[in-house]
Amino acid sequence: MIIKPFAPSPLTIGLQALVTRLQPTHPQYQNLQQEQKIKEAGDFGEHYVMKELRQTALLNDCHIFHNVILPSVLPMQIDILIIVPNAIILLEVKNIRGTVHLKNDPRQLIRTSESGEVHVFTHPEIQLEQYIQGMKHFLDTQNISIPIFGAVVFPFNNVNIHREDSGLPILMAKELPLFLHKHIEKSKETSTMNEIKHIVLSHLRDRTPFPLCQYYQIDASALRLGVHCENCGQFGMKKLRMTWYCQSCQYQCKDAHIRALLDYYMVVGDTISNRACRELLNIESQYVAKRLLKKLNLPSTGSDRIRKYDLFSLYWNAPQKK
Ligand SMILES: [Zn+2]
Repeated sequence: MIIKPFAPSPLTIGLQALVTRLQPTHPQYQNLQQEQKIKEAGDFGEHYVMKELRQTALLNDCHIFHNVILPSVLPMQIDILIIVPNAIILLEVKNIRGTVHLKNDPRQLIRTSESGEVHVFTHPEIQLEQYIQGMKHFLDTQNISIPIFGAVVFPFNNVNIHREDSGLPILMAKELPLFLHKHIEKSKETSTMNEIKHIVLSHLRDRTPFPLCQYYQIDASALRLGVHCENCGQFGMKKLRMTWYCQSCQYQCKDAHIRALLDYYMVVGDTISNRACRELLNIESQYVAKRLLKKLNLPSTGSDRIRKYDLFSLYWNAPQKK
């Protein structure tokens, strides 16, 4: 049973907004575009594995979580956590194509793409070992003792893996049912599973790298302003009385400004003034800007001209991030 379903990572959604808004001539543009692709591929792989797990009858009575961050002495961001009757299983998903060399001393993952480009990544075993230790520590603080297993999962057969030495299991997604079968003892006893599920749920943390301009040290003046048309990709939708209108493709959308304000939250900062809102949406009237902001029921601080609207709730309630 899926307890916490798949959702794209905040960094992926944020990078999509940043890359869309960054001037293509910016020196960091290509690197960020590359990073966006890597993050999107990572999310795609995690989504695929979650779908496979949902269809695994063996897990019908188990609890599955996507993207778990828990308070611990060691930083933890577990791609997939599964609570089974007698154990906890952590999966680290790596959607990397090409030829992958997992080398020791020092442990590194070296990927050579089809075009011969070489990239070096953190060895997934290092992350997984850290998450297993972090999870042990977290459960210790809750007075729970249960075996914790982990595996690195490559979702697709588009990778050719070379490994120097044995260590934690490295699996293809199709091997997961067999791996899980080995680790799940048949048990009718579900009280421990439910207890751990509730503990995990009540300690879940959210972490975002926003605002990305600060995270990547980019000056906000390098961003493209205006309301972006989701239909044709052009900036500069015009505010009409009831809607936003794209002059390039005639697309209309009532809520196009909300997407722009979300971009602002993820990329520039968590609060916005009336003036910054007018610049962002490319509207002249402060009354129109005020009306748009008021309608969103955002908490605000300060009065009149120095009023700042808090965009936090806009992000956390946004359907796009689900
Ligand atoms: Zn358009």
